[in-house]
Amino acid sequence: MTSSLLTVSYIGSSAMFILSLSGLSNQESARRGNLYGIIGMILAIVATTVAVGMSGFGLSEYGTLAIAVLPGIVIGAIVAARVAMTSMPELVAILHSFVGAAAVLVGIANYLAPAQPLTGVEAVIHEVEIFVGVFIGAITFSGSVVAFGKLRAWLPSKPLLLPARHWLNLGMLGASISLGSGFLSAEGYDGLTPLLIMTAIAIVLGVHLVMAIGGADMPVVISMLNSYSGWAAAAAGFMLSNDLLIITGALVGSSGAILSYIMCKAMNRSFISVILGGFGADSGAAPATATKIEGDVHQTTVESTAQTLRNAKNVIIVPGYGMAVAQAQHSVSEITKTLQGLGVNVRFGIHPVAGRMPGHMNVLLAEAKVPYDIVLEMDEINADFPETDAVLVIGANDTVNPSAIEDPHSAIAGMPVMEVWKSHKTVVMKRGMASGYAGIENPLFYKENTEMLFGDAKKNLDAILGHLR
Ligand code: NDP
Repeated sequence: MTSSLLTVSYIGSSAMFILSLSGLSNQESARRGNLYGIIGMILAIVATTVAVGMSGFGLSEYGTLAIAVLPGIVIGAIVAARVAMTSMPELVAILHSFVGAAAVLVGIANYLAPAQPLTGVEAVIHEVEIFVGVFIGAITFSGSVVAFGKLRAWLPSKPLLLPARHWLNLGMLGASISLGSGFLSAEGYDGLTPLLIMTAIAIVLGVHLVMAIGGADMPVVISMLNSYSGWAAAAAGFMLSNDLLIITGALVGSSGAILSYIMCKAMNRSFISVILGGFGADSGAAPATATKIEGDVHQTTVESTAQTLRNAKNVIIVPGYGMAVAQAQHSVSEITKTLQGLGVNVRFGIHPVAGRMPGHMNVLLAEAKVPYDIVLEMDEINADFPETDAVLVIGANDTVNPSAIEDPHSAIAGMPVMEVWKSHKTVVMKRGMASGYAGIENPLFYKENTEMLFGDAKKNLDAILGHLR
């Protein structure tokens, strides 16, 4: 393959990745976006594999490459095919950690065996690329592993707030910068020691930054780590002088940063505060001082809920993580059709951080073929609750918690939520009185116009469907 053909292939892949991102921004074009991404990646892999042949790769090198790449492809395909929708966020988090680890390994390998000998300014720039790339990669790696642990509930979702934690972070950053100057001024391979010490510090920093984030702020951390993984890939691209890796990394890095910013706005959180591990804010702090909840829980039945829905003119369904756990989306879709057949106006209200990943609810509802035009964002529907006869909350908890608005001491104070309690009647479907991801109590369950329908959401929805039919 000539170098101009390689350039054309890389430009083609880059264009595919850009089309992919634009396709993924909309539910209707998401499948197409995915397809563009797949084509772009295949093109990139084939072009790179052929191109390395030009730089002297022989049969034995290709053999080594196959031994490294093929098991990865097989394992990746099996894991992706088997993963449950509810475990998708964990998979994404752990995949981010792989990108971080790859950037660290590429950086160290590149330092020990540079592709071409560089001197003067070029050598300094290259060493800066290595140092920064390894630093970002190490933070991405360990931060993503902690995020994975929190999403899997292996680690507590409560924030770890060490005393003087911001000074600790600052100290680690300062130590890394001073190690950087030692790295740049080292002769021969002497820079390896400061590089490895900085890697260890950055790993601890990544752990500490993400451990300090409370459950409710985790969505921003996930998209932020997504962004970091992009920058880590771009840094690896600089180290390897691979234009496509630089472009792809920059696309992932910037789109992840924009997504983090959008999510921070949606959750009324300061972007800077969240990326600095909760700097200057008590968001996600332990809810020890939260106001005590008063009132009784009113339990209801499947029959009564079916009756409520049948008698309503307007119904809003608010799904949350529990709908994903129960895999209840198809039952929800059937209920929607049945109610529409009975002349009820049914709409869906989606909180930006419902579930465990951005767009989680939209993906599930699209899978169950719920029409897009009745699925509305929180901002589009929140004002309509006072005119709504019945709201069905399916496995949502933090995203419908009134204490975000009513209790300034709450861990989620200030976060916009679905104001379901303003409707005439709210039926909450969940298995018991357990708290949501943020680990806080929910006064919604004790309100006068709230009824609790306990049990698995899918089982109860199927039973409601039976009654409606
Ligand atoms: P929550 O996690 O707050 O609550 C889910 C509720 O579902 C639980 O209280 C649980 O109660 C119930 N539930 C679980 N399984 C079932 C079942 N089989 N049937 C019925 N109910 C069930 O969900 P939300 O969607 O309201 O909020 C999402 C939370 O996750 C927010 O705090 C958000 O910040 C966080 N988060 C979001 C991410 C994102 O990108 N969207 C990423 C990371 C975190 P019970 O056990 O009693 O049934």
